[in-house]
Amino acid sequence: MLKGKVALVTGGSRGIGAAVAEKLASLGAEVAVIYSGNEEKAEAVCERCRTLGVRAAAYRCDVADFEAVKGTVAKVKEEFGTIHILVNNAGITRDGLVLSMKEEDFDGVLDVNLKGAFNMIRHCSGIFLRNRFGRIINISSVSGMIGNPGQVNYSASKAGLIGMTKSVAKELAPRGITCNAVAPGFIRTDMTGELSAADNKLLSAIPLGRMGQAEEVAEAVAFLAASAYITGEVIRVDGGIAM
Ligand code: NDP
Repeated sequence: MLKGKVALVTGGSRGIGAAVAEKLASLGAEVAVIYSGNEEKAEAVCERCRTLGVRAAAYRCDVADFEAVKGTVAKVKEEFGTIHILVNNAGITRDGLVLSMKEEDFDGVLDVNLKGAFNMIRHCSGIFLRNRFGRIINISSVSGMIGNPGQVNYSASKAGLIGMTKSVAKELAPRGITCNAVAPGFIRTDMTGELSAADNKLLSAIPLGRMGQAEEVAEAVAFLAASAYITGEVIRVDGGIAM
C-alpha cells in the first residue's frame, strides 16, 4: 500500500513512534527514524523494519532545534531521495500544577511538542510542494481536546498541534498535500509507565475499559498516510475517553 513511499517518523525509537515506523514499513514504506538520545533502540527499530524488506535508517536530532531539523531533513532527502510522509510524534511531558510550574518546564514541552512539529513541517513542506504529494500526520492527544489537570504545558502544546494541523491542511491542500492529527488517549508506553494498569479510576473513565496499545495508534496513522481525501481531521484513538 505504501510501496515506494519514504516516511520520516520523529520519536521513532520507542513507544508509539516505533510502532508507527514498523507499521509503515510493513506496508512497504522506507523509514527514517528520528530519535533524541536512544540510539540503540532507534537502531533496533530500523533493524526490525529492514526484516520487513524495506530500507530504514536512524537519525539523531532534537526536533526543537530549527537548524538541526533543517540539516536532518536535508540528510534524509539526500539518502532516501525524497520524503512523502511526515509523522510528528516526538513528545515529552513535564507535568505539574499551573500554580507551581517552572517556566522552563512550560517552554521545554512547547519547544519539543509544538515547535518541533513546526520545524519538521517547515523543512519538509518544500519537498512535498515539489513532489505535489505529502502526508503530514501530527500526534496530538486527548489532553489537547479536553484538558487534563497537571498538564497545562502538555495540553497547550497538543491543542496547538490541532490548530497547526488545520492551518497547514488549508495552506497545502491546493498542492495535494494532506495534514491530519491523531489524538491518542492512554496508551501503554514509557510515557505512561508510571500509570498503573490497576489504576481503577483511570480505567473506569475509559469506556472501552483498558489502555490502548501503540499498534492501535499506528493503525490510524497508516490509514491517514494512505488516504488522499481526508485533511484537517483529528482522529481520536482513545477507547472513547474524550467523547
Ligand atoms: P515515549 O516517551 O515512549 O517516546 C518518546 C519518543 O520521542 C522517543 O522516541 C524519544 O526519543 C522521542 N523524543 C523525545 N524528545 C525528543 C526530541 N527533543 N527530539 C527528537 N525526539 C524526541 O512517548 P510515547 O510513545 O508515549 O508518545 C509518543 C507521542 O504520542 C508523544 O507526542 C505523546 O505526547 C503522544 N501521546 C502519547 C500518549 C500515551 O498515552 N502514551 C497519549 C497521547 C499522546 P529517545 O528514545 O531518543 O528518547
